[in-house]
Amino acid sequence: MGKNKLQKRVLDSAKEFIAKEIAPVAAMTDEKEKFPLKNFKEMGRLGFLGIPYPEKFGGAELDYLTYATIVREIAKVCASTAMSVVAHTGLAGNPIFSFGSEKQKIKFLKPLALGEKIGAFGLTEPNAGSDIAAMETTAEKKENHYILNGTKIFITNANVADIYVVAAKTSPEKGMMGISMFVLEKGTEGFKASGKKEKKLGMKGADTGELIFDNAIVPEKNLIGRKNWGLKILHQTLVGARIGMAAIALGISEGAQKYCLEYVKQRKQFGEYLYHFQSIKNMLADMEMNTSAADLLLQKAAVMKDEGRNVTKEASEAKLFASEMAMKITKDAIQIFGGYGYSQDLPLERFFRDAKITEIGDGTSEIQRLIIADEIIKRPT
Ligand SMILES: Cc1cc2nc3c(=O)[nH]c(=O)nc-3n(C[C@H](O)[C@H](O)[C@H](O)COP(=O)(O)OP(=O)(O)OC[C@H]3O[C@@H](n4cnc5c(N)ncnc54)[C@H](O)[C@@H]3O)c2cc1C
Repeated sequence: MGKNKLQKRVLDSAKEFIAKEIAPVAAMTDEKEKFPLKNFKEMGRLGFLGIPYPEKFGGAELDYLTYATIVREIAKVCASTAMSVVAHTGLAGNPIFSFGSEKQKIKFLKPLALGEKIGAFGLTEPNAGSDIAAMETTAEKKENHYILNGTKIFITNANVADIYVVAAKTSPEKGMMGISMFVLEKGTEGFKASGKKEKKLGMKGADTGELIFDNAIVPEKNLIGRKNWGLKILHQTLVGARIGMAAIALGISEGAQKYCLEYVKQRKQFGEYLYHFQSIKNMLADMEMNTSAADLLLQKAAVMKDEGRNVTKEASEAKLFASEMAMKITKDAIQIFGGYGYSQDLPLERFFRDAKITEIGDGTSEIQRLIIADEIIKRPT
């Protein structure tokens, strides 16, 4: 089957699954703060969790644009599910695919792509968020294994995952240049998810927890790439993840916009449908312009990534713009709905709460602005 045909078939079947299985449980997933395990496993079975990876590693052998499009479609109805997918496929799968050995890909990437196992990615620590160099988790080499000590916090899928990709300092004296990446399994001696479930503003269905390394014994063969390659691996992983986060933000915006366009044609005040009022029209026009612009930035970043080009700036632009617009659009959507928008009977307040993390995760908006500025300053003038 040709790539375009396969892409269309996968997108059609994803849309069908999202409408039939994800949309109906989205409100409950949020309300009960329940990780959507059944749908997650089913997405793996249907091939949606390994979109950009080769068939031999359980993937669909499609591109990053298709992956981002599926994430965006999921986020239109359930951002929590989309966030769990991005942590699994983008954050955990990508470093294994890009830098892992053939054996690691078979052992870890394949079950992730097939949804047989769930992945998580551990970088953030209590004293190291934006400032990666401040990382305190260490990995000390002993014979044919590493001993890991430290704590990771705010980790998506922490309590539900089976496979973890984590960062630790192998040469602490080298600061940022002394970080390495490891892949390890649930049940590794000295390692556990603490069981603490973060109570959050939004993305309540996405599990967020803590990882504890207490003299965890990780075999040397679980090192991803080479010793002290962490910075390079983290850079590539986070750039890719930002495209996923942009897709989540845009999906949330589009989900909210859809409700607004229906509502303004149903709701009357002062004897007129809402769409007659100029203030409402202004908000609708801005929503359309901003989702279109976010769409273009997202597609540009994803297509350039598929072409193998450096997308550091483009991924940050897409994520920064889409996330700030998701906040504006979901706020305006609630405004258009008035009191009904504030009520939990409709998903608009959920969209609004879910949107906020897109300005924080995978690098805050402030950090994205620094990255974009640094990239253009480097450019010859
Ligand atoms: C729901 C959720 C899920 C997450 N999932 C994961 C995950 O799966 N894996 C993972 O590793 N992490 C995850 N994170 C962590 C997330 O990536 C961090 O929260 C984020 O990178 C910011 O780090 P921080 O919270 O420590 O904030 P800080 O770095 O302490 O930043 C605090 C404030 O200072 C600003 N700031 C910091 N440095 C600068 C600077 N140099 N210039 C200007 N402003 C600056 C920030 O923009 C922010 O406004 C998750 C977080 C949440 C809330």
